[in-house]
Amino acid sequence: MPRSDGRTENQLRTIKFTRKFTMHAPGSVLCEFGNTKVLCSAMVEDTVPPHIKAANYQKKPEDREGWLSAEYGMLPSSTNTRKQRDKAGKVDGRSVEIQRLIGRSLRTIIDLGQIGERTIWLDVDVLQADGGTRTAGITGCYVALWDCLLSMKEKGQLKYWPLIDSVAAVSVGVIGNAPMLDLCYEEDVRAETDMNVVMTGKGAFIEVQGTAEKVPFERKRLDELLDLATRGCAELCKIQKKTLE
Ligand code: UDP
Repeated sequence: MPRSDGRTENQLRTIKFTRKFTMHAPGSVLCEFGNTKVLCSAMVEDTVPPHIKAANYQKKPEDREGWLSAEYGMLPSSTNTRKQRDKAGKVDGRSVEIQRLIGRSLRTIIDLGQIGERTIWLDVDVLQADGGTRTAGITGCYVALWDCLLSMKEKGQLKYWPLIDSVAAVSVGVIGNAPMLDLCYEEDVRAETDMNVVMTGKGAFIEVQGTAEKVPFERKRLDELLDLATRGCAELCKIQKKTLE
């Protein structure tokens, strides 16, 4: 069954990465999944949060570890009705959930023992939302993190190259009883089941967020959706590799 934008059920939207999108952040990538456009920035701070500082206190200077954290936000004009900016100290619950997911996903593939006592900040700013902003954010952050680490390497801030694996994420869902890959907003609102899947380049799962809306799903359906997401993430991983060549 063809989709509203003419894709087949197992087809990603057009994926694009634009590196060095802005000039100040050492990692700055515009990541596009069709009409969803997110800016992924990676910057370094020479401090670590208190829980890492406390753990480092006992260690020799050369063994001290770093941290990686993420923030997520949507620009007011990224959605069809103006989205209010977060007021100081009040981040909406959805953004908190998404930024924690982004941080966890990227921390899984990096050895923080190699970056010294520093924090890498990943910022995902949604310029235009059309479904799958968190999955585009994670997928783009991998490319931004890579560029940031290249710059740290040039400055002699890395002991060894810290990336253990790559990471990509995609959404899958069920519409009209059919599993579909990489939902756009119009599909997302119609979906009976909606899932976000984060995977490493080696094909292991980092996070699976799956929810039924009105119609519960069977175990067999879950397996089908995970198969579809696995294919999608493998394709995203290939595009990331090509971008970073
Ligand atoms: N969305 C919106 N306003 C909001 C939150 C979401 O218009 O305040 C739209 C947007 O297109 C987004 C989609 O709803 O991409 C799906 O939102 P969801 O929370 O599932 O996150 P996403 O799929 O973007 O990771």
